[in-house]
Amino acid sequence: MKNRTRTVRIGNIKLGGKNPVVVQSMTKTRTRDVVRTMRQIRRLERSGCEIVRCAVVDRRDAAALAYIKERARIPVVADIHFDYRLAMQVLDYGVDKIRINPGNIGEAWKVGEIIKKAREKKCAIRVGVNSGSLPKTKTVRYKRPSTRAILETVEDALAIFDKHGFHDVVVSAKGADVMDTVAVYRALHRRIPYPLHIGITEAGLPFRGGVKSAVGLGILLDQGIGDTIRVSLTGDPVLEVIAAYEILGALKLRIQKPVLISCPTCGRCEVDLIRIARKVEQLLAGYTIPIKVAVMGCVVNGPGEARDADYGIACGKGRGIVFMKGKEVKCVKESQLVETLFEVIDENVIDR
Ligand code: SF4
Repeated sequence: MKNRTRTVRIGNIKLGGKNPVVVQSMTKTRTRDVVRTMRQIRRLERSGCEIVRCAVVDRRDAAALAYIKERARIPVVADIHFDYRLAMQVLDYGVDKIRINPGNIGEAWKVGEIIKKAREKKCAIRVGVNSGSLPKTKTVRYKRPSTRAILETVEDALAIFDKHGFHDVVVSAKGADVMDTVAVYRALHRRIPYPLHIGITEAGLPFRGGVKSAVGLGILLDQGIGDTIRVSLTGDPVLEVIAAYEILGALKLRIQKPVLISCPTCGRCEVDLIRIARKVEQLLAGYTIPIKVAVMGCVVNGPGEARDADYGIACGKGRGIVFMKGKEVKCVKESQLVETLFEVIDENVIDR
């Protein structure tokens, strides 16, 4: 059961409260390169990304956000470090949220200036603390980025927001260590009323990063902690979105994409099942319907699993059976299996 926090509006998206967990990602281009950045945003939009964040390093990146904000179809977040004046600049372009790191923005009055202008522009702010960039006062006092040091950093920052009576706030406190991050978010969940943006930062390359994120986010989300997620991967941001939906789908929190079930294969398999499963996965990426598709290697578990799914393939020797809603539709050669499966899916989707 999802926890109830305040609801904060980010463009047309409602974050927190009883709203579904929102999937977000970040562009990896230089923001000032508006052509490449917009191209990446379009790919993210098509993959189901619901909020996109862009790094704002200097005034040229900030200026690019005016162009990007006008064209993006999903809410745009400006990621600001060090220079509060960049936040002031992008607020004029109508960005939907600003992410600031209180550890490096500096004096409270600078945060205060951002808050005043964000209120005027009806823009939300994420207080994004990272275990690797805590303020000096905390690193001197605590030596390492302990849960206590991170919580104090968040609470110090939120005190400034409270002082200004500004509550359109989202909070994150990410670390690279999975269980430390889980501990921090559990504590935040108990202590603060704001929606939580959760993620494991610097998680790694797609395979390991995806596994670490699934473990950390899985534990938190299952306990009702987390209102928006980003799976941080060293790789294509579209993979972050795919991984995020896999995590949400596995937890049955959001199923709006096809789910692929494929067997691990073993000595009983007599077709090239890895190739078939890859092809099916690739083709399913273009679908936005919550269907379950099974790709099974043999007749032992194959027909049973395939029948349980909405659609499926159960293979034999150089051939396979295509199933739909528990019924055998066709038996075809290995080379025709994928094509036949998608013909069946498409006919049925059109019928619906
Ligand atoms: S479905 Fe068949 S081929 Fe696949 S792992 Fe199970 S027994 Fe092996």
